Amino acid sequence: MSVVGNGAKPRPEALSETVRDPVAAEQAAADFLRALGVPLDREGLAGTPRRMARAYAELLTPRAFDLTTFANEDGYDELVLVRDIPLSSICEHHFLPFFGRAHVGYLPGDRILGLSKVARLVEAQARGPQVQERLTKQIAEWLDTKLRPRGVGVIIEAEHMCMTLRGVRALGARTVTSALLGTLRTDTRSRAEFLELVHSDSGTR
Ligand code: ZN
Repeated sequence: MSVVGNGAKPRPEALSETVRDPVAAEQAAADFLRALGVPLDREGLAGTPRRMARAYAELLTPRAFDLTTFANEDGYDELVLVRDIPLSSICEHHFLPFFGRAHVGYLPGDRILGLSKVARLVEAQARGPQVQERLTKQIAEWLDTKLRPRGVGVIIEAEHMCMTLRGVRALGARTVTSALLGTLRTDTRSRAEFLELVHSDSGTR
């Protein structure tokens, strides 16, 4: 067993472990709401700027975890797929949530990954202002770098509040993104198997 990295290592643009200035965040939230004409003197709204600042701080703070890998002692060489991993993140263009699920698969090389770590990896990468396309790629590249598998496939299906609650109000519309690396990109059969397993009886199609 070995630990090959810290999955929560923040990207340069991610916020630090704790919100940088909670007082300023709360003040700014109050100013923001007031500017929008929200009556903060009403009882139910009095604590809203504080709750808003805390909620966003939590949504943007990655939780630390270790990406534990194991030697692939039995030489398992078939696809490992973790399907329907719940996912939520913040769209960096509108600062509204998007949520859905991720399907993450890889063709093992010399190392395999603790299965729960796949979900933790998705969660860690989803913290912070994101766009779905980059999130998909980041998860795939992280696995590729840390695990050196023969292939990696990541598919994310998500509903974006900025698209369903405002603008076109396309309620229920889902955005699907994929990132395929290695054999899952180059080998037609492996790719087909991956896609088939992702979609088989998941009720998403
Ligand atoms: Zn958006």
